[in-house]
Amino acid sequence: MSITGIKGMNDILPSEIATWQFLEDTARRIFATYGCQEIRVPVVEKTELFCRSIGETTDIVEKEMYTFNDKSDNSLTLRPEGTAPVMRSFIQHKLFNQDQVSKLYYLGPMFRYERPQKGRYRQFHQIGAEIIGIDDPRMDAQVLAMLSHYFEAVGLTDVSLQINSLGCPKCRPDYRQTLIDFLQQRLDQLCPDCQRRYATNPLRVLDCKSKSCKEATQDAPSVLDHLCDECDTHFATVQQCLNQLGTAYSINNRMVRGLDYYTKTTFEMVTNNLGAQNAVAAGGRYDGLVEELGGPSLPGIGFAMGVERLVLLLQDKKIKTPPPALFLATLGKDAEEFAFKVLHQLQREGIYAEMDFTGRSLKAQLRRADKLNCRYTIMIGDNELSEGSAQLKRMADGDQQAVQLSQLLEQLRPLLDDASTTSL
Ligand code: ATP
Ligand code: MG
Repeated sequence: MSITGIKGMNDILPSEIATWQFLEDTARRIFATYGCQEIRVPVVEKTELFCRSIGETTDIVEKEMYTFNDKSDNSLTLRPEGTAPVMRSFIQHKLFNQDQVSKLYYLGPMFRYERPQKGRYRQFHQIGAEIIGIDDPRMDAQVLAMLSHYFEAVGLTDVSLQINSLGCPKCRPDYRQTLIDFLQQRLDQLCPDCQRRYATNPLRVLDCKSKSCKEATQDAPSVLDHLCDECDTHFATVQQCLNQLGTAYSINNRMVRGLDYYTKTTFEMVTNNLGAQNAVAAGGRYDGLVEELGGPSLPGIGFAMGVERLVLLLQDKKIKTPPPALFLATLGKDAEEFAFKVLHQLQREGIYAEMDFTGRSLKAQLRRADKLNCRYTIMIGDNELSEGSAQLKRMADGDQQAVQLSQLLEQLRPLLDDASTTSL
């Protein structure tokens, strides 16, 4: 039996790669405009990093982590998310000494042991950004505006930004207790999972997908009614700033996040087009995290987008790898030799060209040119070589023009240059 890949871990094949590269390139371009620089951290970290940051009672740490002991008996974990490793690196390398604010972004695979289904995998990819050092609400607005800008730039307009505030260590404990008291009176209506976790992770119950929990928590107390003055003002200012910038959003006071480190502003970019997997990006403020992980007391805010879900949403847009600009079809040994050199020169100039190396008939070569979707074809045989000119055919409409073989490159350049950019 041949060996197959691991369930929930996908190959990304050449036929899909143009969409991936488009999403990644656009992130690099847009994030750079906001001053973000890329950081690359390992995919494996010490297990305690995730337990301490994400929280022991969260789904990720309780159920979803790929944890193993290495040969020296150290407990290691494949990263389930990017924020904790980036914070670890930020602290370890004292990036806070370089500037008052660090704006970072990352992209790469994450690992969670979940039940694979559409939009949910065991290895998946995130593109994320983290801004550390500023707690001003204008920075929240900048991050949200950057996220919206990104969605606009990749052509995903059928998404909406939802925001909430989860308060801070001053006001959240009160809210948490109020919510526990509320849930306690409705315990028999909650699903078994929530009956178990309502006391340790009551906020998570608000996020439960089960119908009975949704009904039971319909009139649950709102976190927004329990914010302290500081958090309340912060959240109001975030909204003012978003209004100023013209960034569309709605408030969802039931949005909680599956990670413990969030404070104040939290947000999700949601869609109606992916069934149950409706969040394509999510994030929030984490003002206590850097200190919790042993760094200085610095605020932070960030988000992560799920690339597989973005790719699913872009399926209809048919982003393709550019086809060859030119196919060199040849007849006879001399013509083949000539074309072989031209092929190399074109490639050195950054123009994608193809020719046949298998000695197939001219007809078969032209069929292949068609199949590869080449923009132009040139036919070169003994006649063309002796006359020093050949016909260049534009495949889209069959239009032909004569070109001088001695100045082939000069004549091709202006025609072919614009063919090498990715087409939407
Ligand atoms: P969900 O509610 O879908 O489980 P989450 O709250 O666990 O998402 P985060 O930890 O906030 O997700 O990760 C940010 C984004 O990463 C999500 O919005 C989603 O697009 C993507 N994502 C999370 N888990 C997976 C997964 N198992 N497979 C594919 N994408 C994922
Ligand atoms: Mg999840």
